[in-house]
Amino acid sequence: MSSNLTGVKDEYDWVDALVEFFASPPTEIPPEVLKAFAVIQNHGQVLPPRLFYEVVEQSSIAISITDNRANILYVNRAFQNLTGYCSDELWGQNESILSYKVTPKTVYQDLWTTILSGEAWNGILVNKRKDSSRYLAEVTVAPVLCDRTESHYFLGMHRDVTALHNLKNKVHNQKELIESVVDYAPMAIALLDLEGKVVLDNRAYKTLMADLGGREPADLILQSENSMIGKDFEMACARGYGFEHQEVRLEQEPGREPRWFSCSASWIKEFDLRAESYFESDRQSGLLLVANEITRQKREQEQARINAVQALMMEQSATLNMQEILSGAIFQMQGPFNMIEAAAGMLKRQGPEQAHLYSTLKQALDAGHQAVETLRASIPGEVSETTGPVNINDVVRDVLNVMATRLLAEGVVVDCRLAESLPFITGQAGKLRALVKYFLDNAIDALREPGDWQREFIIITRKDNDERIELWVQDMGPGLSTELRFKAFEPFFSRWNARRGHSGMGLTMAQQIAVEYGGEVEVDTEYKKGCRIRVSIPLDGGQQ
Ligand code: FAD
Repeated sequence: MSSNLTGVKDEYDWVDALVEFFASPPTEIPPEVLKAFAVIQNHGQVLPPRLFYEVVEQSSIAISITDNRANILYVNRAFQNLTGYCSDELWGQNESILSYKVTPKTVYQDLWTTILSGEAWNGILVNKRKDSSRYLAEVTVAPVLCDRTESHYFLGMHRDVTALHNLKNKVHNQKELIESVVDYAPMAIALLDLEGKVVLDNRAYKTLMADLGGREPADLILQSENSMIGKDFEMACARGYGFEHQEVRLEQEPGREPRWFSCSASWIKEFDLRAESYFESDRQSGLLLVANEITRQKREQEQARINAVQALMMEQSATLNMQEILSGAIFQMQGPFNMIEAAAGMLKRQGPEQAHLYSTLKQALDAGHQAVETLRASIPGEVSETTGPVNINDVVRDVLNVMATRLLAEGVVVDCRLAESLPFITGQAGKLRALVKYFLDNAIDALREPGDWQREFIIITRKDNDERIELWVQDMGPGLSTELRFKAFEPFFSRWNARRGHSGMGLTMAQQIAVEYGGEVEVDTEYKKGCRIRVSIPLDGGQQ
């Protein structure tokens, strides 16, 4: 038989010699010796015992062989390197020389019970080197069964896992730290899996969910108007769509104020733990959703906006008052002027003897007209305002906010039934606010009339099938009699017992604004419990 260990026959003649020797050994050699030195044959290959020795000696794992009481008989080079002892120092010593004496006794008991029952034991022991430095050893102790019956020897294999343990602890500590930071973070945080299901969330998220009556905040945020993700979660995942600082309004249970959140959503990647993904572990694993509450800032912003709206409305109202007063004065002067003009005409017709009187009257009349023109010229123009998209619902809300104090003082309850969503019209928000305010001012005045009126308004907005937006303002005051339903829109008409500083131009101006938008205002003749006014504006009516 020839060696095929390396394929180079000359160098391994001794292997052939060995094989031949063991094929017919001299009879005087004891069988134990023959057994010990027997050539190892494996699948037709001859492997010399020396090779097995070298494999153990050169192994990078610290290997030791002990007797059945753990007294060391052999240690390899890696063992010496790791422990700092040389082979001679260890020979005959018990493996306990490596013990740092902090490993619990029960661990050793388990080790010994296991190996004495013929099984291999694997575990962690705290060891010390010759220089007394300690290290964590991952130890495997296996009984070596000679003749497959009794174990005379133990094989010990161990490696230093201190660095790995430190790393594990570091990762664990970091995980704990991150988890507690995330858990106690004031913003709501949730991690969604690839199906859009929340797989991890923090306290703030759970609290928010409870506040929302058990509805999943992630669903509401992702379904919100501006989110690209809610519409097609799979596509958003495939394309990695996310968003940052998206303002989302979440409605709470009825009677509770809506809340505002600044939300961000980003896809995060996690290492795939599967073995087959070792070289290619770039997988998307979930959507991280962070919602930071901004309700307070929103309220402050809204309050600032309402204040600005209020200031603008006050300016507009002052201008309109002035317009009303001056127009009223001019209107009132028109009657006497007409009479003087008629008298002058009569004097003129009476001939030259009245010429002097006619001329004086004419001069007075011209001076009067001049004065009227001066008055007309001093009527203030409209407050300048930009044109843009306006939502009638927002207009109503703004007016109610601005009038809140007054409504409260008058003890009026407003039942606001605004359409869930209304299309925008192009126009000037200020003008449309003035329109709504005229009706509410009138409704409040109506309730001040003598009588026992139910102090409630109903405001309705809706879009009708004719592509028009309708606004209904309904009060439960004295109402308007049929004959006054058209007259009420005439300039300077006021039917209030006390005029309360009104010139009677409110409905006229409101109608004028509605007409500017291609719309109309009418008093509902069917309604008998008070006054119900309907304003209807075509959707394209604001395109001026
Ligand atoms: P010990 O008094 O030696 O033993 C503690 C407990 O272990 C005893 O109460 C007893 O329950 C059990 N025990 C000990 N010896 C025997 C025995 N002969 N038969 C039955 N039960 C016994 N220890 C290390 O600390 N580090 C190592 O790296 C390490 N490697 C080992 C490798 C091999 C191959 C073997 C067989 C043992 C190894 N040991 C190692 C265990 C070691 O021999 C000691 O048992 C251990 O170190 C505890 O020593 P001790 O002096 O503190 O206590």
